[in-house]
Amino acid sequence: MTRLATINEQGNWYRGNTHAHSQVSDGEYAPEMLVQAYKDLGYDFLAITDHRTYGCYESLSDDNFLVLPGVELDVRVPGQEAICHHVVGLGLPGQNKLTHGQRITYPENTNVRQMTAYLRANGNLCIYAHPNWSHVYPEHMVDIPGLVAMEIFNNTCEVHTTAGSSDTWYDRMLWSGQQIWCVACDDTHQHQPDLGGGFIRVKAEHLNHASIMEAILAGSFHASQGPLIDQFHVENGEACITCSACCSIGLLADSHPGMALNDASCSMTEGSFTLRGTERYVRVVVKDSTGKKAWSQPIWL
Ligand SMILES: [Zn+2]
Ligand SMILES: [Zn+2]
Repeated sequence: MTRLATINEQGNWYRGNTHAHSQVSDGEYAPEMLVQAYKDLGYDFLAITDHRTYGCYESLSDDNFLVLPGVELDVRVPGQEAICHHVVGLGLPGQNKLTHGQRITYPENTNVRQMTAYLRANGNLCIYAHPNWSHVYPEHMVDIPGLVAMEIFNNTCEVHTTAGSSDTWYDRMLWSGQQIWCVACDDTHQHQPDLGGGFIRVKAEHLNHASIMEAILAGSFHASQGPLIDQFHVENGEACITCSACCSIGLLADSHPGMALNDASCSMTEGSFTLRGTERYVRVVVKDSTGKKAWSQPIWL
């Protein structure tokens, strides 16, 4: 049997935040300050995704830090569907048609499908933002075409309302057969301490726009609040993971409730699970001694 994995075998690890606001919309920091704050946290990349105003900050990128182009769009919707839908767009190299400072306007009755279609038509990949905070019913997420990822954890939603975790929404998407990646992010606005709580760790060839976006599209990354997942693969009916020291490793799938390994000393750095053979996909969730989680991408079997 072949070895299946989404994380590239070759490459380097880069830590980044895919969702952040600056003074350009309702954040507190100027874009330059925001970039400096993430450099100080040891991050390698950041997307500045102000509400309805596109940001391209190539001049703030250097050899050791990459600023990705992006935006966050939102629509209000009837209560039976959600309170609202928010979608983050990240510009793809050579495809992005949106320009720095461009205000994106659309009619009040625009729906989430039209909003994501607009972003995709303009060369942006779409990440569904904070479904728990938006009170979206899972059935209204599964039929949005073209979502590359959804936020399984959004730190500012956690800090402001404790509604930052969307694990259940993610499972529902996957159970429905939707092949979508998961990200953790800050969505920082800097009004409260909301930096550095959620990130993705991407394994890519280089720290540049093309390489990072290619790795995100391919699922060569994991989401985290702190713990690190160094490898996760399936081979010969076994799912194997290596990670930073943790207390539990859970394996989740569609066709059964899942399984977990626990270590009271919280020093577990690897684990393996024998699959039942009924799974359409498997994913793992790691928890460390401080309760922080990391989430792998699903491996589709
Ligand atoms: Zn939002
Ligand atoms: Zn936001």
